[in-house]
Amino acid sequence: MLAGLASDISQQVLSTDAAGMPLEWLDYREAVRLYHSKQVAYDCGTLLYSVFGGYNSCSGTRSRIDVNSIIATHGTSRSRTRNRERYVPPLNNRTLFKRDANLCLYCGMRYMTRDLTRDHITPVSQGGRDKWNNVATACRRCNNFKGGRTPEQAAMELIAVPFTPNYAEYIYLKGRRVLADQMQYLLAHIPRSSPLHARLSDHLSNGEEIVEVHFHD
Ligand SMILES: [Zn+2]
Repeated sequence: MLAGLASDISQQVLSTDAAGMPLEWLDYREAVRLYHSKQVAYDCGTLLYSVFGGYNSCSGTRSRIDVNSIIATHGTSRSRTRNRERYVPPLNNRTLFKRDANLCLYCGMRYMTRDLTRDHITPVSQGGRDKWNNVATACRRCNNFKGGRTPEQAAMELIAVPFTPNYAEYIYLKGRRVLADQMQYLLAHIPRSSPLHARLSDHLSNGEEIVEVHFHD
């Protein structure tokens, strides 16, 4: 059914439930499917692109779906909302490095993703867990130097406190390219005390649409 123009169909759509809680990123196929099956309760943000379907043989008109940057789907998932407070997102390097803005949390330098590693602050060999609050982005040099030691044992200092992202933060971290309106939306669900709140606010006040420079390999 995708027969027409698409200004930028690679842009992900932010989906929320009917109560406005952020849920997930959608690609254009998933977004169009929701519009088409009338599961979109309302949309906000900005018009991203229009997708044209086939011609109606009776009326001669062509179906058209306008896809917005933020769409709310029908229904609220109570259990999902309830569990959200206790939600711990899965840990992976891509979102971990983005949490730390591609900075080595020891030397404070910014690196390409391929030059970064996951450091266990308390090493696994000393009982440290593979969890968000025990991992830090580290460059190879710092990680090698630290070895199997804690920061104290290695006389190294972390430049930021590692934190576990909440649900909205994790959605932000997973986003490939987050538009200003989507960022604004997610920001409302991120605690003011979070380091990400300050970072995103800065981006927004600078009028930046694309949140971060992405460091692809
Ligand atoms: Zn380093």
